Amino acid sequence: MEENESDPISSQPQEISSTTQKIVNEIKALEKELEGIQTSCTHQKQSLKNCPIGSDNSFSLRKVCDDCQMEIGYPSPEEINKWVSS
Ligand SMILES: [Zn+2]
Repeated sequence: MEENESDPISSQPQEISSTTQKIVNEIKALEKELEGIQTSCTHQKQSLKNCPIGSDNSFSLRKVCDDCQMEIGYPSPEEINKWVSS
């Protein structure tokens, strides 16, 4: 009977680490790109969104730019009322 087992000390862990390294580098590059877009954005269109805060699954209402998705700040009570009734 022929066994077709692969080498137990295969190069898989190395492949995984090179893949994750590639992903991490891509995320960094994309974050930089996003930062550039957000810095040059004038945030003309804004809407209120429930944004996750912290690690306890809680949400907080924030003003977010429709174009670049940047959190601009906290809405005023008036803006919250408008958002709730819309
Ligand atoms: Zn923006």
